[in-house]
Amino acid sequence: MNSKQLKQNGNSNEDDVNRDLSADILKTYCEKFSRVPVAVLDNEGRIIDTNRWFRKLCDQPEILPGTDFKTIIEINNKPVFNIEFSPVTSIETRHFVGKPIKLFPQIDYQGIVIRKNSCQYLFFKNKLDETDKILQTVTELNMDISELARDLSMKNQQLTIANKKITELLESDTLTGIKNRRFMSMELDRLISYVKRNKTPCFSIIMFDIDHFKRVNDTYGHDLGDQVLIAVTALFSKMLRQEDTLARFGGEEFIITLINQNIEQAVSAADRLRRALESSEMPQGLKITASFGVAQFMLEENKEVLLKNADDAMYEAKNQGRNRVIAHINQKDN
Ligand code: GH3
Ligand code: MG
Ligand code: MG
Repeated sequence: MNSKQLKQNGNSNEDDVNRDLSADILKTYCEKFSRVPVAVLDNEGRIIDTNRWFRKLCDQPEILPGTDFKTIIEINNKPVFNIEFSPVTSIETRHFVGKPIKLFPQIDYQGIVIRKNSCQYLFFKNKLDETDKILQTVTELNMDISELARDLSMKNQQLTIANKKITELLESDTLTGIKNRRFMSMELDRLISYVKRNKTPCFSIIMFDIDHFKRVNDTYGHDLGDQVLIAVTALFSKMLRQEDTLARFGGEEFIITLINQNIEQAVSAADRLRRALESSEMPQGLKITASFGVAQFMLEENKEVLLKNADDAMYEAKNQGRNRVIAHINQKDN
């Protein structure tokens, strides 16, 4: 704003100084920090000064000092400028609603008038009423959307956890917590297709069955039998490598996959397990043994043949007196 123009309307030196100061502050604030449209009028409603936001609001690149304000903005609620001006020393504030004359469609703008001494400062609310409402709705909708997005992401996390749990349940044996027959069957498919694709790596399986387990149940009860199953799987789980899988295949029958282990390596692994079981104490000081059948997967074979070979070897171990490891000897090796 032009402080010289403001000065013309002053009554005293003190007023001039005050007005210059407030005009400068307003000029800096309204031009640089705020987008508030401001017009300064004299007491006849003629423009003394405007800021660029006001000129933008009226779509007028330039507004000459002395221009009648009524030709620029139409004030709806009893034009403040027509009210006879009586000099006041204190600030008098009025609300008004007006619309720029040049613009079509005309939209109501709200604002306040501050009268001070011989000047009227008109501050327009920068946002349109309608826009305000729309903006508020949009803001609220945006907040709703962010809330929904947050909810959705939380539900997704819960779903992922639930899915993981379902998969775990589907793959695990409820009594012992180790993998179940379903998982072992899939694991064998996976290993077989891997070995067939890559040709080089091999894998073997150990099938074992607890000896005279019926006697345990009959003598000590089913609950202790359960505890023995848990203890045996816990003991073996500790002894196996990360990449090997122990699964419960039937009642007291289990399978272990040994990746990258040929038949000799698998036999010694099985014997380590057999000896560990034989020498460990089961719940209530019970002594338990198991019989082991070992088979290596051969490229020309399939899952069924592999399982049958291990099963045959295990029954041979039973036949030979139990608590021993028998390897399936491949025809080619004979
Ligand atoms: P063998 O040395 O020939 O294997 O004799 P066995 O007594 O171990 O074999 P058999 O097949 O005659 O008996 C297996 C027993 O295992 C019978 C069954 O009740 C028991 N069994 C199977 N599943 C469970 C289980 O989850 N908990 C308990 N406590 N017993 C089970
Ligand atoms: Mg048995
Ligand atoms: Mg059995």
